[in-house]
Amino acid sequence: MTPEIRQTACPRDCYEGCEIHATVENGILTKMGGGPGNPYTANIICQRVRKYDERVYSPNRITHPMKKVNGEWVRISWIEAIDLAAGAMKKAIDQYGPLSILSYQSAGSMSALKILHHRFFNLLGGVTTTWGSLCGGASSAARLKCTGATVIQDPLDLKNSKGVIIWGRNPINTSIHLLPIMTELRKKGIPVVLIDPIYSDSVKFADKIYQPRPNGDGYLALAIAKRLIDRNLIDRKFIKNHTEDFDKLTLVLREYENVDLVEKSGLTEAEVDELTDLYGKTKPCAILMGFGVQRYVDGNEIVELIHCLGAMTGNISLPGGGVSHSTDEWRFFDTSLEASDQAIHKRKISKSLLGIDLFREVNPPVKVAFIQLGNPVAQIPNSQSVIRAFKMMDEVILVDSFLTDTADCATLFLPTTTFVEEEDVMGSYGHPYLTYMRPVIDPVGESKTDLEILQLLAEKLNIKGMEGSASEWIEKLLAPVHSHGITQKSLSAAGTLRSEENPVPFKDGKFYTDSGKFKFLKKYDAYQYAQESEYPLFFMTVAGSKAHNSQLEESVQMGLPEAFVHPENQSCCDLKDGETAELVSRAGKMKVCIRYDDRQRKDIVLLFRGGWLKTGWGPNAITEPLMSREGGGAAYYSTRVSLKRF
Ligand code: SF4
Repeated sequence: MTPEIRQTACPRDCYEGCEIHATVENGILTKMGGGPGNPYTANIICQRVRKYDERVYSPNRITHPMKKVNGEWVRISWIEAIDLAAGAMKKAIDQYGPLSILSYQSAGSMSALKILHHRFFNLLGGVTTTWGSLCGGASSAARLKCTGATVIQDPLDLKNSKGVIIWGRNPINTSIHLLPIMTELRKKGIPVVLIDPIYSDSVKFADKIYQPRPNGDGYLALAIAKRLIDRNLIDRKFIKNHTEDFDKLTLVLREYENVDLVEKSGLTEAEVDELTDLYGKTKPCAILMGFGVQRYVDGNEIVELIHCLGAMTGNISLPGGGVSHSTDEWRFFDTSLEASDQAIHKRKISKSLLGIDLFREVNPPVKVAFIQLGNPVAQIPNSQSVIRAFKMMDEVILVDSFLTDTADCATLFLPTTTFVEEEDVMGSYGHPYLTYMRPVIDPVGESKTDLEILQLLAEKLNIKGMEGSASEWIEKLLAPVHSHGITQKSLSAAGTLRSEENPVPFKDGKFYTDSGKFKFLKKYDAYQYAQESEYPLFFMTVAGSKAHNSQLEESVQMGLPEAFVHPENQSCCDLKDGETAELVSRAGKMKVCIRYDDRQRKDIVLLFRGGWLKTGWGPNAITEPLMSREGGGAAYYSTRVSLKRF
């Protein structure tokens, strides 16, 4: 049979939301490539998904239900699995009420039908759920405060830019479709710079990298703001007509001396001057933030401060300008289908501090956890607290395709399909296009889609309101964009369609706050680190090219994880490259292999995330349970460590 190309989309937790063209031969997925329907992602996908067939057909993938008996997994039928899952939920409800069930959902897949997970548990009467976000919580809170919305400028609008600052984002690993745009702009002599404590190969696509001190971004924004005012590089008309509380920001700025701000930012005076000139004298100049800037306890304030620069110069409202981070991937879908009005009971605990909060919530205690689209043990700061909390429960039901760290705490395993086996729709948090996902292969083994699993449970528990095929639900979920001409029928026929989302959301200085004006930050309370001398290094756990969040193939996690440090890093000057060292934080210890990299700052240890605790590759074994002050974001980068000879 000749190979057939089938169109779908990638629903992984990523800015790009690529259209995919999958090659299928005799029913087997053999190749993944980009599709042409989306002009932003046009024909290009990352190397993680180019090799997705390895994940789909991995010998480690579990494609049948299992229960744990005396600590060992035992294969069972779907009938028994659904009986056990429904029975555990019913027992918990009867004894303690619905709040004794935890529904944990993360971002393993961000497609439209995943909204129905919330619907199931709301129709069940309402259970314990989570608030906050492991990724963008701090940033979302900040943007809601200063602009009234979590919106972005269309990335294709960068073609109108006269300057671009990419702040806390590493495009080569997380936004690959920015790379051709950066190249194109630079060919025209338009400056493109990176601000990132971490040195990465993205530098090859930029004019320069500025490497501030980790958590120094807030001070850097203040230093630039002070200079913009001193050098009269602000847009007074824009500030007067479209903003409020500028006087409050100037009071914040008066608390600091220029020289202190520069020192705390970790850059040199000349570097801060260069950035001030670039942003103050170039119009339009775009700022694109990444998740890195906000993974701190004061991350929400840092994001607000960076937005203040956009409002001071007026760049925030210009085509080719804007201050963008990410938007809501479910904004195109009818979230009223979550049926939250049907939940009689409601309790939310922090996602970022899950383990700690599960211990606090004892009335009623959580007895059953239902986990989808995530690997909380590996992903949440301070893994040990999460493990302890799960171990106290009667039943931990995991919907996944692999035996992750969370599976080690689980009692029941329900095998789910991968995205190439599912019908769904993807709306990205990084661009305004929607793409149809169609099953390019049949489900592998006995795997079922999340929707099918929830429908089986609903039937068993006699819950009405979950019935319907994937395409019927897709049509209902797309209601908000029907007026854009996007329906189940039109989208499945076209593959990808652009929504009518405004490419320049704050055009003409209109914001979504109650006053319609941008609100400047009124107070900056920089996070103060304790025991800096004992733990002198910042622990940066960034996305690499091989793994998506914690989805690194177990077979790759061999030996020790590599920790990259500057050779003059005082903590490890007696260690040789390749030697084993111990990374120690206030929360724990892990063994690493030292790798020297003189392009990194001397005050960091860099690890690529994606690994698991059970292989010794899980960095959250030593992260502290810290959360952003607003938005419930995981403050991963506020953990400090020391390096010791092992
Ligand atoms: S992970 Fe991101 S870049 Fe890679 S294929 Fe998926 S959406 Fe595209």
